[in-house]
Amino acid sequence: MKLFAIFGNPISHSISPRLHNNVIQHLNLDACYTRKLITNQEDIIKTFKALKLTGANVTVPHKEAAYRLCDEVRGIANEIKAINTLVQEKGKIIGYNTDAPGFYQSLNAFKNIQKALIIGAGGTAKAIAFILRSHHIDVSVLNRSEARLKFFSDHDFSTFSWKDFSIDQYDIIINTTPAGLKDDTLPFETESLAKLMQSAHYAFDVIYGKMTPFLKLASAHDLIYKDGRDMLLYQGILAFNLFYNQRFDNKIIEKYMREALAF
Ligand code: NDP
Repeated sequence: MKLFAIFGNPISHSISPRLHNNVIQHLNLDACYTRKLITNQEDIIKTFKALKLTGANVTVPHKEAAYRLCDEVRGIANEIKAINTLVQEKGKIIGYNTDAPGFYQSLNAFKNIQKALIIGAGGTAKAIAFILRSHHIDVSVLNRSEARLKFFSDHDFSTFSWKDFSIDQYDIIINTTPAGLKDDTLPFETESLAKLMQSAHYAFDVIYGKMTPFLKLASAHDLIYKDGRDMLLYQGILAFNLFYNQRFDNKIIEKYMREALAF
């Protein structure tokens, strides 16, 4: 029997087991996907090995530690320097980032994006910035404070703190901050956000399952908008197929993960 887990702190809220186990059940696989609270990030690989896992997902706040601790890193995770998927391969633990391609796939209905503004400069912003750049999209990053912008300016992204930002035209505005998740706040000053939205086409909020103030403002400006639900779904599909060495059609995995999301 194959065992999979999601590592994080906190972890009880994660819906990844629901998504993965629904696919496992419908495909009649001899496997189970569970949650594991990790309080000390140095224990990630030790726990993976102790549980004899075939694969794992990693969530907040352990993605950077997992990048540092796994045996080998593949793909765009090398640029992002954070991983959300671990796969056991011939005794080695390989790290991948499926948040980035998962985000990009979730933009499938958005056409002709040339210029993007990312609000927030945490781990999710890094994944999104690198995947957009790999698709030749010009990326700027706006954050309320300066410290986290250094990573982005060191990698040649345009960066702004709230203090030095001036309005420009962007095709898409992406909120990667938790503003609006547990409160009713916007990720940036209302007036400036409204101006940005007057000339944008699309808005994306990585928060899912909630019409955030950011998405409400986008709707009021007639932008095409989307929440983070499909990003969550697609990163899960890509991780599932990494666990099974690309054995399944992504469409089949999507069908059962979407069904589980609707529970
Ligand atoms: P981090 O903690 O790494 O970064 C958070 C960023 O948001 C920082 O730049 C911080 O700014 C900024 N920020 C925090 N609070 C506010 C606020 N009230 N107003 C403005 N800026 C703020 O978080 P992550 O990048 O790991 O995660 C961000 C969000 O993405 C979470 O809500 C998470 O649930 C969601 N997420 C969704 C996924 C999906 O599949 N849909 C996948 C992964 C994450 P500062 O530097 O000034 O502190």
